[in-house]
Amino acid sequence: MTKGTASKGQKKNKGRVHIRCRRCGKTAYHKIQSICSSCSYGKTTKLRRYNWDKKTVTKKRKITRRIAKKK
Ligand SMILES: [Zn+2]
Repeated sequence: MTKGTASKGQKKNKGRVHIRCRRCGKTAYHKIQSICSSCSYGKTTKLRRYNWDKKTVTKKRKITRRIAKKK
């Protein structure tokens, strides 16, 4: 691999690729793709969760509860 554009690509975002997500508050929202990698905001209306990932399953439950309380 050479240095320069071949290895790093055209860096459109100087600095960070992921910004804070509007929905989950995590710094996982992809600027260019406009999809959150944590909750898949921008892709689906439902929260991203998998049963194999027990950590997120419990976390998302808490988030949904919080939303319900606000309403
Ligand atoms: Zn998110």
